[in-house]
Amino acid sequence: MTVKEALRKAAGLFLKAGVPDARLDARLLLAQVLGRPQLELLAAPDLPLNEAQAACYFELAARRAAREPLQYILGRADFMGHQFLVRPGVLIPRDDTEILAQRAIALLKAGGSALDLCCGSGILGISLQKARPDARVYAGDVSGQAIDLTRDNARALGAEIDARQGDLFAPFIGLRFDLIVCNPPYIPSHELEGLQEEVRREPALALDGGADGLHFYRRVLSEAPGHLNPGGILLLELGDGQAEQVSALLSPGFTAPVVYRDLGGLPRALETRLLRGVD
Ligand code: GLN
Repeated sequence: MTVKEALRKAAGLFLKAGVPDARLDARLLLAQVLGRPQLELLAAPDLPLNEAQAACYFELAARRAAREPLQYILGRADFMGHQFLVRPGVLIPRDDTEILAQRAIALLKAGGSALDLCCGSGILGISLQKARPDARVYAGDVSGQAIDLTRDNARALGAEIDARQGDLFAPFIGLRFDLIVCNPPYIPSHELEGLQEEVRREPALALDGGADGLHFYRRVLSEAPGHLNPGGILLLELGDGQAEQVSALLSPGFTAPVVYRDLGGLPRALETRLLRGVD
């Protein structure tokens, strides 16, 4: 079997199963099996696969056709130019989240401290620490699997992160930061069932934002003043259509929010500062 034949067969399986981006995913999986960049495969349609390669490829393809997310099968995802480990049980990094990393990198003062709250695989804290080696970066998540993965990613990428497991600020009692960045669960509970098949394979813990999707914004916004230095920055990822609702939850201790759009043009990140410290 050749590259071209394998790709055609896998893409056919994917199309039948309703996989979005069927052809691209077929290429990315074959690239993984053959250990070559996916673009190279387009230029090598007649390259033969040996039996072991073909068997391995169609095993992975069957998993994708069963709508397992591509990144869980590959075991990795790119974010801010770094390759992060990804595992079932922890949210898959999204490109749209890069806007938060970019703002955090631009805003943190020299030698400042930062907290990545609800860190998942650790992408925000680690990207910040890699870009700003002078920063002292902490990460927290209620999920032990997320903390393990954050530590593994930090080790693999050579970032120094103090990752602690616990409910929001619970592991950071008595600590204040110059910047807090947070991508909380924000999907309204009743919408979880209607999500794309692949997203439903991700942990509900990382997605479920309560009845109106705002549960964690309320908690973070009420507790953040006690964990920010005066003038400290808070960066929140937003779900679709939540910019106004989350802005309305800001107490008078915060500056008027600035909202940034994602790659698709949707409001995705909210930035505000604490006017003065709160005891
Ligand atoms: N961005 C994710 C999605 O739309 C949700 C992540 C989250 O709840 N923070 O599927």
